[in-house]
Amino acid sequence: MENYLRNLALSTAALLTMLVFVQCQKTASPAESAASATEKTDRLNSAEQAAAADASLILTDSLPACVHDKIYSMPVEPLSDTERNVLEFVREEELLAHDVYVFLGAHYNLPIFKHIAKSERFHANVMLALLQKYALADPAENHQEGVFANSDIQLLYNQFTEQGLLSLEDALTVGETIEDFDIADLVAHLDGDVDNADLGFSLEQLTKGSRNHLRAFYAHLSFRNLTYTPQYISQEMYDQIVASPWETGNGFCDCAM
Ligand code: ZN
Ligand code: ZN
Repeated sequence: MENYLRNLALSTAALLTMLVFVQCQKTASPAESAASATEKTDRLNSAEQAAAADASLILTDSLPACVHDKIYSMPVEPLSDTERNVLEFVREEELLAHDVYVFLGAHYNLPIFKHIAKSERFHANVMLALLQKYALADPAENHQEGVFANSDIQLLYNQFTEQGLLSLEDALTVGETIEDFDIADLVAHLDGDVDNADLGFSLEQLTKGSRNHLRAFYAHLSFRNLTYTPQYISQEMYDQIVASPWETGNGFCDCAM
């Protein structure tokens, strides 16, 4: 618990430092130089289509019955304090991503923000279903966009929206940063402090979604000859994710999510 909070404080501090000092580098990496304009355009188009297809599968604001059933098909196991903290934190972490993308989607006429916001709403609803399964209070009950119970997340929302307003390039960099942060956070929980099957399974699915989002923002940055340097996951993991194809399926069940 203390470790978790300390790590959270450290990662938040690191993120804020990064926001101040790191901007997209306009110099192309060797890999990017090798990618032709046609390849970049093709990658952008396929990422947009895949994100739109994912978003079109999310039919309602509430969680589809099949996803609910999948979560409840796994046993109710004792929940450690750490797991409870993870559940509460990730619930707001997903809403943070959702709210930032809704905000950016209102300022920039680029469909990617609205498409990915829909996916983040789905992720936040998955965490809500788990909170309800374990009879825990929702930290985001009566959530208003841009308002968070966790003060670290509130600070991140303020910073991300401020940076995102500077330019479309900054907004896309904010997107890539959020996904970088989310993947690192989710992987850390999966590697360390989560053993309940339902929570582990759900975090795996959220991580898969984040990898797709990282690919989508990467395609937009690369199309503009911008290079993002990962701040949370390793460069090796980043390169491996963006070079691999979009992962399909929501993972919870075969029905539309
Ligand atoms: Zn997400
Ligand atoms: Zn995401």
